[in-house]
Amino acid sequence: SGLVVAMDGPSGSGKSSASRGVARALGLRYLDTGAMYRAITWWMLQQEVDLTDPEAITGRSGEPTLIMNTDPDTPGVSVDGVDVNGPIRGPEVTGAVSAVSAVPEVRRRLVALQQEIIAESLPGGGIVVEGRDIGTVVAPDAPVKVYLTADAEARARRRTAELTGTTVETQKAEMARRDTLDSTRKADPLAMAADAIELDTTPLTLDDVIAEVLRLVKE
Ligand code: C5P
Repeated sequence: SGLVVAMDGPSGSGKSSASRGVARALGLRYLDTGAMYRAITWWMLQQEVDLTDPEAITGRSGEPTLIMNTDPDTPGVSVDGVDVNGPIRGPEVTGAVSAVSAVPEVRRRLVALQQEIIAESLPGGGIVVEGRDIGTVVAPDAPVKVYLTADAEARARRRTAELTGTTVETQKAEMARRDTLDSTRKADPLAMAADAIELDTTPLTLDDVIAEVLRLVKE
C-alpha cells in the first residue's frame, strides 16, 4: 500500500514543478532529493571543507542533520535547524554540488535517508520523489517511473526564469558542465532506468506534463 512516483531528469526539465503538481493532485508527499545534495554541499562550504578532497568530504559527511519538509505546498530543507532554502539555490552551491554528490559516502547516506522518508510516507498514501537516480537506485521498485527531458535551450530558458542576474547563455554552459560531471562520474553515474517512461517536455506546458504523469499513474 502507498504509491511511489519516481521523477528523474536533468535540471530545467521541469521536474520540480511537475513533481509538486502531481503530488498535490494525488494528495501525496513530495521529496526533492536535489535539495538534499544541495543542503549537504551548503554545509560543507560553510564548514570550509576542501571540496577537492573526497576523503575530507567523506570524513565530515555524517555530521549535518537534514530535516525535509515533504508537504508539496511548503517543501524545504533545514540543516542543523537552519532553513537553507534560499542559499542552496545560489551560484556557490550550484557550482560545488556535483563534486559533493560524486562522493560515494554522501550518496550512501542520502539514499538511506531518502528511503526512510519514502517508507514513512507509505501509510499516508505515498510520495512523489524527484532526482536523478530515483528509478535506478533510491526506489527501483516504484510502479511509476518518469524520466523528463527537454532540449538544452528550453532547459536554460526555464532555469534563467527562476534565477536573477544570469543569462540563457550562461545557464546553458553551466548546465552542460554539471550534466557532464553528473553523468560521467565513476561512482554510480546517473542514467535512465530501463523501465522509465521518457517524456520530452520541450513542447509541453506544465499542466500538460502533470496530466501526462497522472495518466501514467492511472494506467
Ligand atoms: O536537481 P538539482 O539541480 O537541484 O540537483 C542538484 C545536483 O544534485 C545535481 O547536479 C546532482 O549533482 C545532484 N543530485 C544527485 N542525485 C539526485 C539529485 C541530485 O546526484 N538524486
